[in-house]
Amino acid sequence: MKKNIMLLVCSMMLLPAFLFGNTPKTIAVYLTDVKAPYNITIKGKYQAYNYLYESEIISALDGDVEVEIIEHKLGLKIEDVGVYEKGIVFDTTEGFNLNGVDYYGDLLLVPYQGKMIPVNRLSVEDYVKGVLPHEMSPDWPLEALKAQAVAARTYAMYHILLNDGKRIFDVDNTTKYQVYNGKAKINSNITQAVESTKYEVMTYNDKVIAGYFSALCGGHTDSSLNVFGVAVPYLEGVTCNYCNAQIKIWTNAVSYDEFNKVFAKSNIKVNDKTDFKVKANSKSDKVTSIDLNTANGKKSIKGSDFRSILTPKIVPSLTFRIDKVDNGIVIIGQGSGHAVGLCQWGAYGMAQVKKDYKYILPFYYKGIVIKDYTTMGDNIKADVWRN
Ligand SMILES: [Zn+2]
Repeated sequence: MKKNIMLLVCSMMLLPAFLFGNTPKTIAVYLTDVKAPYNITIKGKYQAYNYLYESEIISALDGDVEVEIIEHKLGLKIEDVGVYEKGIVFDTTEGFNLNGVDYYGDLLLVPYQGKMIPVNRLSVEDYVKGVLPHEMSPDWPLEALKAQAVAARTYAMYHILLNDGKRIFDVDNTTKYQVYNGKAKINSNITQAVESTKYEVMTYNDKVIAGYFSALCGGHTDSSLNVFGVAVPYLEGVTCNYCNAQIKIWTNAVSYDEFNKVFAKSNIKVNDKTDFKVKANSKSDKVTSIDLNTANGKKSIKGSDFRSILTPKIVPSLTFRIDKVDNGIVIIGQGSGHAVGLCQWGAYGMAQVKKDYKYILPFYYKGIVIKDYTTMGDNIKADVWRN
């Protein structure tokens, strides 16, 4: 039976949903693409309260409630119930549906930088289930999915620890962190991969690492030094023969005019007289810099800057060479992604030859130890080496 939300003002003590020492067990995800009006269906028992005054209960009912919340000049308006300037929290027991997508956990509609934003607060384990099918195909072999689950959980825990409650959300749902879309695409493989690696994260010197991963390293993973400018012992780059079968050559052309437009800010101007000297690391074959003799003198562009300025669409990876053609250059390369940490197609190849995730992960992240984060105590810390 559907019920309408009703005003219910009373004072109740709310207990935090998770009380396990200080080890964080939940993550707050900003749902960047979800906009008002918010059409919410709540399943099971829930409690809605004012975000600022937790004791101000708006509504508490037994499930199957539908509610529409619209933006109002004074805050968020719940149908005939009222306007909430400070935000609303829906603490649920069985999750909710928001604008057509099912989610685990709680829904927070809260003020952030002058607007109201939707934030999904849920257990780290359910979050990893929600991320996994968007970062790796749910049909891939189980051991590859397990490796990805641990990498995704590690990446999530790293950002929870880094944020330390300073911002309303720990991560958002885009590629800036990890793609997340509630319960969409979760199948039995995903559930199995997450549940069979429950609470496991990668650590180095007892700190949670930033579990970087990328699609296809192209034969050798890159070092954090080349891509992020910081040398990290577990991210020095390794030879990866496991993704060989997937390596395809890509080619993209850029005219001198286009090149000069995007590099105008860097004060770099090239023409048909310019030589493009590509320097690569002898071990990894990844481009470290490109030296140019331009009209206004010698210039050098870091490989990782070259890729980000021209965009990863034009320069999918740092394994490339540059050829000159009539009106510009052709960039020819192989692989896809920043290539730091886990190579996803490599994990796929390893799983096919029966390597398990406990072999796969230390192969890419040298010297790491897989730990249950719930046993790491109150002093659990992130291994921070970049902003
Ligand atoms: Zn690889």
